[in-house]
Amino acid sequence: MTTQEFKGPVDNVAGRDINIYPPTEPVEIDPSVSRYCSQCDGVTWRYTRHCIHCGFDQFVHDADVNAARLQKFKIKLGMGLAVIGFSLATLGNYLPQKMRVWTLSIGGLCLLAAMGIVKN
Ligand SMILES: [Zn+2]
Repeated sequence: MTTQEFKGPVDNVAGRDINIYPPTEPVEIDPSVSRYCSQCDGVTWRYTRHCIHCGFDQFVHDADVNAARLQKFKIKLGMGLAVIGFSLATLGNYLPQKMRVWTLSIGGLCLLAAMGIVKN
């Protein structure tokens, strides 16, 4: 009896992920169904996970881009709230006593919100 040897990529049958790529057929250039690949710049299907030209995972790339955009927005929002909070806290010193409590309270809440947003 002889042993059977496998040559080539056998990783796909060893209990790992099996990637099924869409067929490489021409894609019509229509923004509702197609897009340009972020890696190879070829036209591929918009709602298909892998690029039909290079196999690049579009969904993971989109998730990374969206996470970076959300993080940038959080930092801008936190900075804006911090500026508003410091401004109100500073402005409170020049206002009458009755308004000073409100400006300091709102400024403090803005600073707390800014810290909470930037922290996450
Ligand atoms: Zn591609």
